[in-house]
Amino acid sequence: MSDDEGGADSPPELPGPDDEPEPFTYDGGRVDPSEVQNLRYSVSETYLGDPVRMPVTIVNGAQAGPTVFLSAAAHGDELNGIEVVREVAHEWDHSGLVGTLVCLPVLNVPGFIAQQRYLPIYDRDLNRSFPGDPDSTSAKRIAHSIYRNFVAPCDLGIDFHTSTRGRSNTLHVRADMDHERTARVANAFASNVIIADEGPSGTLRHEATEGGTPTITVEMGEAHRFQRHFIDRALAGTLSVLSEFGLRTEKAVAWPGWRTVVDGSAEKTWLRADAGGLVEMHHDRGSLVHEGDAVCTITNPFKTDSTTIQAPFTGLLVGIVENPLVYPGNPICHLVHLDERTRRAFKRDSGTMAHEN
Ligand SMILES: [Zn+2]
Repeated sequence: MSDDEGGADSPPELPGPDDEPEPFTYDGGRVDPSEVQNLRYSVSETYLGDPVRMPVTIVNGAQAGPTVFLSAAAHGDELNGIEVVREVAHEWDHSGLVGTLVCLPVLNVPGFIAQQRYLPIYDRDLNRSFPGDPDSTSAKRIAHSIYRNFVAPCDLGIDFHTSTRGRSNTLHVRADMDHERTARVANAFASNVIIADEGPSGTLRHEATEGGTPTITVEMGEAHRFQRHFIDRALAGTLSVLSEFGLRTEKAVAWPGWRTVVDGSAEKTWLRADAGGLVEMHHDRGSLVHEGDAVCTITNPFKTDSTTIQAPFTGLLVGIVENPLVYPGNPICHLVHLDERTRRAFKRDSGTMAHEN
């Protein structure tokens, strides 16, 4: 961002090393500059009246700077992000940190324990319950406790997700690209694919961005797995964001080689099954398919009848099914358009990069 962009719509200035370092405070505690705190924060109670405690690590640097939250497992079975947040919190050297990191590896503790997407209590979606409400449902009370203490005090945030069980995503960012600082976070994460939208209301990223904490979602891989190549790419993206905002001294990644920003006007579609049966995919997650290519074939149990699904336009397979069983209408893969120039850059890159699968 250049210096001459200041104006009425510019986001508020972030604290920097010239400011006085301040403690990070939450309801019931504080973390002073140069202090690291691991805590289990009570966000609810079980049927037995025991506390439901969420793990939190707060790293407050010696120097003043932005406060950034990193969160994962708002859906309890989405594990890749947990490892990203844990490694940042516990394996990185924070001795030169300029600012504060709020690390929330498991937002949805009851869902995590049950290894399911939603809160086990009436199957509520924690990621539609933000910013929460202290006088409402248990889901909204949990959301409120998390949001008020650990999200609202932050200057920006990254919320890690994976695809829903049975499907798998290539790594991509979802962000409101019309929001200046959110777009800056998204670009700095340096993913190839950015899906530009505000996100549904009640999601952490939508409500946090609206509430003054610009937040992006990172989607990668599938539920119930640690997928090392995704975790490593997400760690690199996180480091790049922290560098962009001055918390770290490494160089931010300016350009990921190729990028497509999929906004409302871009061609994108879920290819759906028109027949029930068993799906055989002909392309991997993250591949480029050309208009008319056979993307997958659905067969019956006798293999006597088959339906082939063709790509309606040339694009990238951002998400695909992993569970091969489909009813008519079930989504099979998420295809987004790539323009000619991006396609060329994609092909150039694919020649030099290990395939993500
Ligand atoms: Zn999710």
